[in-house]
Amino acid sequence: MAGRLVIVGAGQGGFAVAAKLRALKDPRPITMIGSETVPPYQRPPLSKKYLLGEMSFDRLMFRPETWYADNDVDLRLGHFVEAIDRSAKTVVMQNGEVIAYEHLVIATGATPRKLPSAIGGDLDGVFVMREKRDADRLAGVMEAGKSLLVIGGGYVGLEAAAVARKFGLAVTVIEMADRILKRVASPATADIMRAIHQSHGVTIREQTGLERLVGDNGRVTGAVLSDGTVIAADIVVVGIGVTPNDQLAKDAGLEVANGIVVDDRARTSDPAIFAVGDCAELPFRGARIRLESVPNAVDQGDAVAAVLAGDDRPYLPEPWFWSDQYDVKLQTAGFNQGYDRTVTRPGQREGAVSVWYFRGGELLAVDAVNDAKAYVSAKKMLAAGTNPSPERIADPETDLKSLLG
Ligand code: FAD
Repeated sequence: MAGRLVIVGAGQGGFAVAAKLRALKDPRPITMIGSETVPPYQRPPLSKKYLLGEMSFDRLMFRPETWYADNDVDLRLGHFVEAIDRSAKTVVMQNGEVIAYEHLVIATGATPRKLPSAIGGDLDGVFVMREKRDADRLAGVMEAGKSLLVIGGGYVGLEAAAVARKFGLAVTVIEMADRILKRVASPATADIMRAIHQSHGVTIREQTGLERLVGDNGRVTGAVLSDGTVIAADIVVVGIGVTPNDQLAKDAGLEVANGIVVDDRARTSDPAIFAVGDCAELPFRGARIRLESVPNAVDQGDAVAAVLAGDDRPYLPEPWFWSDQYDVKLQTAGFNQGYDRTVTRPGQREGAVSVWYFRGGELLAVDAVNDAKAYVSAKKMLAAGTNPSPERIADPETDLKSLLG
């Protein structure tokens, strides 16, 4: 039997590796070490149904806690791994305990960027969104009539804005760039999402940065914006992106760039060590990218398990993602980086619309808003390498199925 697999990080990617190995009937001993104190759980509902109080934590957990012992997975919660000793093939935990591995998976995720304390980042009432406890704290203070300032118009911030509106808070989103969703989506998609938020009463101020937060007695009361305006805020959610948790790898001398550098088997520069999920920088179509999404963490985790179990095949990401805001489901398929043109296609149902990204004649990605049909068709086209003409896509009379070949 193979020697012990140690997984650092008990989140989406780490869990996927352990679960897949057991599904493949691989019997090797597994130790999974996670710094959070609760069993592995899915994060997306933290800024959606869980924050709204419509989903209990039990439903967030991938498996009940008993599953781990039942499946011979030694789950060590509330432990932070401080160091990897590659020559001894051990990891060292914060409490000094040393655990030996034959193979190691780093699945440490990412950390939300915080505001510096010099501009009020440490004031009470200022939140980031990553862990269950962040969502619990935020849910505990969201009350009708209060005002919420969201800093950063990315998906997590916009989802928090949607939940807050449902709770009856007054919500302002500020975005330093010239538009929301700048890093991840096209102007056309941003226009659609902006209009949806505005129709729900959210104030969106683009090209507006934060000068500093202001507070009273250690609690946030408002903000001075880059244009000099002062606004009141009882609660602030900071959604300005994440940084990969790659320090452990860096300290161990592994190759690190924008995340831990891995090959198409998710192997790091040390063949006994893999990295998966948000912390890993992986090859994709001749470039190197980091994907911050559940599907990537799961698929890459599954791929590592398969490689360990002897099925040595490359992991070829097929990126997809979703976001829920109000009654709107946004689904994206593909990776839009490098696009030079988008076309917008109205869907069949009211409110359904999709934005298709092209580079030259190549279809790169699609954002589908309440349009499952467009999403499913696009996914099939991307998987098959089908490149429909933008003109036909833009024509609402075109039956997408006829383009599938
Ligand atoms: P994580 O799930 O973050 O797990 C990493 C774990 O490692 C954490 O528990 C961390 O505490 C632990 N850890 C870190 N360092 C150490 C250490 N040294 N020792 C021990 N433990 C350590 N994706 C989507 O596809 N769709 C969505 O709608 C969506 N919504 C999201 C909403 C929110 C609020 C958030 C935060 C994320 C969302 N995501 C979404 C992203 C998705 O959740 C992540 O991409 C995914 O969780 C990445 O999995 P991971 O295993 O890489 O990291």
